[in-house]
Order: sequence, then structure tokens, then C-alpha cells
Amino acid sequence: MLFADVILPLPLHDTFTYEVPPEMESDIKRGCRVVVPFGTKKIYTAIVMKVHGERPDFDVIKPIKELLETTPIATEKQLQFWEWISKYYICSMGDVYKAAIPGSLKPKDEQAIREKNRRRKNILGDAFLSDDITCLSPLSEAQGKAYDEICTSFETHKTTLLHGVTSSGKTEIYIHLIDKYLKEGKQVLYLLPEIALTTQITERLERVFHDRMGVYHSKFTDAQRVAVYQKQLSDEPFQLILGVRSSVFLPFNNLGLVIVDEEHETSYKQQDPAPRYHARNAALVLANMFGAHTLLGTATPSFEVYHAARKDRYGYVQLNQRYKDIQLPTIQIVDLKEARSKRKMKGAFSFELIDAIREALENKEQVILFQNRRGYSNFIECKNCGWVPRCEHCDVSLTYHKKTDQLTCHYCGYTYKLPEKCPACEEKHFANKGLGTEKVEDQIKDIFPEATTLRMDLDTTRSRTSYENIINEFADHKADILIGTQMVTKGLDFDNVSIVGILDADHLLHQPDFRSYERTFHTLSQVAGRAGRKHRQGKVFLQTRNADSDIIQQIVNNDYWGMFFQQMTERKDFHYPPFYRLIDVYLRHRDNQLLGHLADDMAERLRNVFGNRVLGPDCPPVSRIQSLYIRKIMIKIEHGASIEKVRNVLTAIQNQMLEQTVAHGLTIHYDVDPM
Ligand code: ADP
Ligand code: ZN
Ligand code: ZN
Repeated sequence: MLFADVILPLPLHDTFTYEVPPEMESDIKRGCRVVVPFGTKKIYTAIVMKVHGERPDFDVIKPIKELLETTPIATEKQLQFWEWISKYYICSMGDVYKAAIPGSLKPKDEQAIREKNRRRKNILGDAFLSDDITCLSPLSEAQGKAYDEICTSFETHKTTLLHGVTSSGKTEIYIHLIDKYLKEGKQVLYLLPEIALTTQITERLERVFHDRMGVYHSKFTDAQRVAVYQKQLSDEPFQLILGVRSSVFLPFNNLGLVIVDEEHETSYKQQDPAPRYHARNAALVLANMFGAHTLLGTATPSFEVYHAARKDRYGYVQLNQRYKDIQLPTIQIVDLKEARSKRKMKGAFSFELIDAIREALENKEQVILFQNRRGYSNFIECKNCGWVPRCEHCDVSLTYHKKTDQLTCHYCGYTYKLPEKCPACEEKHFANKGLGTEKVEDQIKDIFPEATTLRMDLDTTRSRTSYENIINEFADHKADILIGTQMVTKGLDFDNVSIVGILDADHLLHQPDFRSYERTFHTLSQVAGRAGRKHRQGKVFLQTRNADSDIIQQIVNNDYWGMFFQQMTERKDFHYPPFYRLIDVYLRHRDNQLLGHLADDMAERLRNVFGNRVLGPDCPPVSRIQSLYIRKIMIKIEHGASIEKVRNVLTAIQNQMLEQTVAHGLTIHYDVDPM
């Protein structure tokens, strides 16, 4: 008699054992899916981890209902990779399984493959497809040198950082590298942050690699993702995958190179649900399993990566010149304190910025305006008594959206009608506080009624096509001014933008987080990098109340090094990454008071083991979401400490906590290396 240990698509830590009916015995293998009963009524598609002959020690062992395939849908390497994710990020294999396999994966989904190819042709138009000549452009001298240095670096370092200023032509270098590996018969995985995976980049690569390339995007339908997944399992997989975070879960058989573009992007980290993995770090592990090389590319490296490069754990290649030697944009600081006191402002715009926009418009050039908040105003406030409407389910004030004339909670998405009068004092006068992208658009239309504008934020880009449409329209100069949140920073390449306006740099700086300086530097340098990419030097206006601060000066001078060293001293002194590893423990419960006690209890148990490495519990800045109260305990672990031991202690303490009857309704989860 054979038995199979399987994982269910549930957040459960263990595998479950089923009996293998005799007719399945010859076909069932690790990595195949099976249909199994669970509990009294439920039926799940599970995945086989182990087939063995040891009868487990309990009475009723249910038989497997159905074997879905005889060829495994997850390769041995994938299963090992899942195990790493589950262990490192302290989540269940069931969570990883759910994230890794597209929902409706069916054996041989030929229909979906055809559908995908048809759609791809439509996106590209026939011109590209008929042109079957590989068009690699010759690299500039600086690019060629960087390319050679990367190849040399790979001889001694599996992982290499390409630190190249914005618009230095990193993509072109990637293309040449990909070509080299494909010619050697190796597979390549090219990772991009979600939002940066646009037709701009897809077309650029497709022109060179044609049908050897597959695209994997989370906005694709399940069927489209299944098609790519199936193709990767087949005998003729795509040699190149261009994809987002989740493409690290695709099957590869001969991976030779991984490229992680914009490696500093925090969106590589999955927040919710589990597995809360970091795609860059996971990709490094994946590459290691294949003995593949990894190239991490960025204009503003993350501290983790730059630190590793300085310690010579990673190779390091620098590219300081923009393509065609166009100068980096100049950044002019506008002191908002002074501008306000001298009344040299119109709404959110300083006179300097207005003049620059006017000149750009007269020259038929384009402008990007950056404000990292969507909506019209952050919140509304009663002018009489100061009452501020808040979400009933979350601990946040509501954002006003003028277009829909509604108040929205940006955490749970709940919308509310604007109250007719203040429920506290019955007055009818509300003030709009704070500056959102909608308000920016209103103001710019007042100042330049003849200019055409586009807005790019979460509200205008709900679908993949709307995001692409905005980019295409702006690239075709169908609008003069693009207003956006951080979305406008992600590697977009527009020819004709001469002016970038950063309306309020301070908002980013004042996030209550040890990474806020690093992140401000990344974001603002990236926004600035959108100016003057093709023809001549661009200009950036940076409006701030902290004109004299070090960080603003470092951004203006493109002084990554200065920023890095200053911040690293603090990171070291206060035990933060990259010197220490953080694990956030989140506890959630409906009852706030009970949660407080439970969190204290858990922190106490953790302190008994980890001592003063444990901080908290604290209420996070948003301490209630969707009616669940939240507490956070932070653990700081020395690098080099065994993550396995830490995980075992955490799991043991979690079990002790959840065994208590008072803890009914408590959920605990972990965020390892939080962003
Ligand atoms: P980065 O990714 O470093 O910001 P890109 O790779 O987007 O820069 O390059 C910036 C611009 O320069 C793009 O429009 C790209 O098409 C152009 N470019 C870069 N290298 C070359 C090259 N070797 N030949 C032709 N155009 C290039
Ligand atoms: Zn009031
Ligand atoms: Zn809410």
C-alpha cells in the first residue's frame, strides 16, 4: 500500500497523508496534483510532496479521489524553491502553492496558448512579426565597456550590480546580455516591478527576441498565465521570460541569467497575502539553484545590495554617463517657506515652476508633475470645530475624491457620502486639507487653461489598458502635462519632457520609517530622471520646506554615496538593515483590549528567548483595518544568526499562544525583511 503526503491550498503548516488507490500507484509522483477530501465535506486540489510506504499512525486514512496528471506540474527545483520560500518567510507551503500555481491550471490548455498569441499579435501589429531580423543596436562606447565589465565580473561573482544613472541605456545592455545567454542555449528571466512592465519595454524586447520571449504579468487573465506556465513545462519553453514578481514561480529547466531591473523598488516585496516574499532576494536564491548569474540594475541601489557590492560579495559595474552624453537634469530647489511668505505661490505652484512650465509649453515641450498622493485632498475638516471624517472600519481619515464627490478609505476601499453638515457641530463648511493629484490637475488647468493634461494614479489606472493608454498618449504628445503619483517614476522613457516639478518633497521625507530617507532619495532621483532623456538637458524644480537639509542637498547633487554613508551610520547604531535582519510579528483580533493583553503576552515570551532584540508591542500607524485591530512586535536579529532557529522559536511560541482558549479569533503572521 502506498501513501502520499500532500499540501493543501490552505494556510496550514503541515502536509496531510492520503492513501493511494492501487490504480494510481504507477503514475503518482511528487509534483503531481491530486483531488482529495478534507474535513467532512470539502474537496481540494492538493499537490503531492512525497509518495511512501509508511502507514501513518491514525485510524482513518482517506483515499485520493483523483490524480490530475501523470507528469508533475511542479519540477523538483520548483518544489525546493517553494520550501525555501516557506521556511525563510515563515509561511505555510499551502500559501506558497497558492501563489505559485495559476488558479485554473489545467492539463494542456492549448486554447489559452492560441488566445495569447492572437492577442500578442494585436498588441504588436503585423509589422513587428513579419520583420524577422534580430535588430541589436550597437552599443555606445560606455555601454560596451560596461557590458564587458559585467561579463568579466560574472567570472568571479555570480551576482553583479549595474549601477547606471537614469537613461544611461541599461536596457540596451540587458538586451545584449540576454542575446549572449540565449545563444549559449540558456534561459533568461528578466524581472521588472509590476508597474514598469509596459508595452514600451515589451515592444523593445519583442523586436529583438520575437517569439522566443514570453511575458508574465499579474494583470493577465488566469488563462493567459496558465498558457505561459504550461509552455514553460513543455519541451519548447520560452527562452526568455519578461515578468513581474510572481514569475520567479514559473518552471525553468536551464536558467542561465536573471536580470532584476530597478532592484531598489520596494514593490518587489509582496505585502499581502502570504507568502510575503521579496522577488529580488527570491530570484537570487532561484539563480543559485541553477548556478545562474544575476544582474541587479538600478540608478539608485538599495542599501542591502550596495552594501553587498562594497563588501565584494557582489560584483560592481558603474555607468555614469547618459546615453548620447546628455547631461543629467539640473535640480533647482524652491524654498516653499520663502515662496509662501513672499506670496510667490499660486496654489501648490511656485512662480519659478509656473514660469518654467510656461516656457516649456511655448517650446512645445512636455512637463511631468509629481505629487505622491491621489485623490483631491487628503482629508476634509470642519472649518468650525475641526471634525475630520474617518473610516468606520479602519483607523484612518478619509480621502476626498472630487470627481465622484465621495470620501474613500484608501485601506479598505469603503466609500462614504460627503456629509451635508458636520455631525459634531452641524455647520456646513468643510475645508479641503492637503494636496492630492486631482487638486493639482484642477489648479494647473486654472493656471494654463490651454494646456492639455493627463493624470496617472491608482484611480485612473484600474485596468492595464488605461495605464498603457496614458503612457502612449503622453509619449505621442497628445497631452502637454502629466500629473502623477510615484507611478510616473517607474522607468518610463519619454523623449520630450524638459521640465519635472516635484510639488512637495516633504511628504515623502516625513514617513515614520527608518527607510524614509533612502526611499525619498530613490523616488525623487527617479522622478528627476524622467527629464531631458533624449535631446537636451532637462530641469527639475524641487519644492520643499527643508531646503537646507542634507537629504535634499544629496538629491540635488546626485550624491548617492554621501546619502549612503550618512544613513548607514544610523542603521548601524540603531540595529537596522543591512546590519540586522528584521522580522515583524503581526497580531490581529476584533477585540482591542484582549488583543493588547495577547500581544503583551507574546512579546514577553519572545523576550524570554531573544531578550532586548524584541521591541513592542506597538500599534502600527494604521492600527485597525477592516474591523480588525492590529499590534506589531519587531524582532531585530543579527545577520549571520540562524534564521532556522529563529523560525523554530517563533513557531513554537505561536503554537503556545494559539492553544490558549482566550486567544480564540487571534491571527498571527510574520513579515520577514519588511519594506
Ligand atoms: P535606463 O534604463 O538606463 O534609464 P534606457 O535603456 O531606457 O535607460 O535608455 C534611454 C534611452 O536611450 C532609450 O530611449 C533608449 O532607446 C536609448 N538608447 C540607449 N542605448 C541605446 C543604443 N545603444 N542605441 C540606441 N538607442 C539607445
Ligand atoms: Zn463641526
Ligand atoms: Zn477603511
